[in-house]
Amino acid sequence: FKVPEPVNEPVLSYGAGSRERELLRGALESALSAEIDIPMYIGGEEVRTGRKFAVRPPHRHGDVLGYYHYGDKSHVEAAIAAALSAKAAWEDLAWEQRAAIFLRAADLIAGPYRYKLNAATMLGQSKNAYQAEIDSACEIVDFLRFNVKYMAEIYSQQPPVSPRGNWNRVEQRPLEGFVFALTPFNFTAIAGNLPTSAAMMGNVVVWKPANTQVYSAHVLMEVFREAGVPAGVINLVFVDGPEAGDVIFKHPDFAGIHFTGSTAVFQNIWKTIGENIHRYRSYPRIVGETGGKDFILVHASADVKAASTAIVRGAFEYQGQKCSAASRVYIPSSLWPALKAQIIKDVSSFKVGPVEDFGNFINAVIDEKSFDKLAKYIDAAQSDPDAEIIVGGTYDKSEGYYIQPTVIVAQRPDYVTMCEELFGPVLTVYVYEDEKWKETLDVIDSTSIYALTGAVIARDRYAIGEATQALRHAAGNFYINDKCTGAVVGQQPFGGARGSGTNDKAGSMINLLRWVSPRTIKETF
Ligand code: GLU
Repeated sequence: FKVPEPVNEPVLSYGAGSRERELLRGALESALSAEIDIPMYIGGEEVRTGRKFAVRPPHRHGDVLGYYHYGDKSHVEAAIAAALSAKAAWEDLAWEQRAAIFLRAADLIAGPYRYKLNAATMLGQSKNAYQAEIDSACEIVDFLRFNVKYMAEIYSQQPPVSPRGNWNRVEQRPLEGFVFALTPFNFTAIAGNLPTSAAMMGNVVVWKPANTQVYSAHVLMEVFREAGVPAGVINLVFVDGPEAGDVIFKHPDFAGIHFTGSTAVFQNIWKTIGENIHRYRSYPRIVGETGGKDFILVHASADVKAASTAIVRGAFEYQGQKCSAASRVYIPSSLWPALKAQIIKDVSSFKVGPVEDFGNFINAVIDEKSFDKLAKYIDAAQSDPDAEIIVGGTYDKSEGYYIQPTVIVAQRPDYVTMCEELFGPVLTVYVYEDEKWKETLDVIDSTSIYALTGAVIARDRYAIGEATQALRHAAGNFYINDKCTGAVVGQQPFGGARGSGTNDKAGSMINLLRWVSPRTIKETF
């Protein structure tokens, strides 16, 4: 069989007066008009514990969108049991049937669920319409469609030689046991991709989303069920992370984890898996994408306007809450006066406010914890002689968790906000002397504890070549004359090494190969 050749799902613009804007408004209004009740899904059953927590929009935390039912260890145990009992039938289903289910899920999201899922992402995660569209409409649809294509390619790859009298073949078996998908708040697409990519390859999954993403996770689960994902294949639980981990990582049938989240959590998980390694049937697959401290390096040959656009879009879209977001920028002193003026102008033009006003470019950060952390870094920069805030620097959590987009200029390349991941709309600039270009390349490489994304902005071809070579280990996704965010499935497989993760490139064949365990068969006639 051949699967349909995918193309990237077109991005709708939501311009004033457009049909899609009206439909999205309708979906927002309907989400705001009644409180939603969000159950867990275990073995195809909706599970309501009565222990409920409110879902609140980060940009208006006094409001309640609905409630989700919180579980405990017993629900994780039930989810594992449901997954394991669904396993045999799911594995036996022909791969074309699995492909059809996920292609149908993609069509449902691209079509009837588009506005509902975007509205859930906008309200639950404080994402503006455009950022929601590229995430919970386009990227998740692309993940599903392209992964089906990669799946078909994986199944068709066979040993090239079978001498006469033999038939050599490779069977791509699902992993033995269940896969744990632990997913982040910042991309609905990632939350959807982590369980489905493992499930597509014939695995059964226990999925625990971030507490701050349950609304859109719920809508995704609705789609998966309607698309025909059988009961027990993907089980959605809302539980405390360490409590879930305590059950999952001690289970003999734990076969792997598909993770996106913080470096600290990932390192802890890795250690816990190590401590329990003797319990498992197989060595578990550990696939994780974690933090980033992503850079943009501007060369003296750069165009000032283009550089500023790359910097401010890379740093501030979705309030800088992308692992890929630009958070440290290196600018040559010869360009600094013009680029400084342009950056201040661009940042000052951003409107900050709730997602329901489509003119707002910046919305709230995800929660109070994140807000307080960012406020602390800003306060410290206000009073530090090594730092100067040139735009922004204020914050207000009275109604929503709003941090004004902030640019700090650091006197030292090792200033704290040049090194630590902040995960918010705070960018730090370091101005280097033009003649220290080579030293700056070394500084960037040696301070890249993380290595997720990076960009060079230059017109000089020689400088582009030097940066590309010198920074080859400093970023898993490297951009030349563009912002460092917004990887597109099927175009730029996404992931980084060093502290940023296992670099198993989301939306690529590399990733899907982690969810199978091949068996080689030699038959002699
Ligand atoms: N894939 C996203 C991008 O390229 C970032 C994913 C993340 O934040 O984890 O911007």
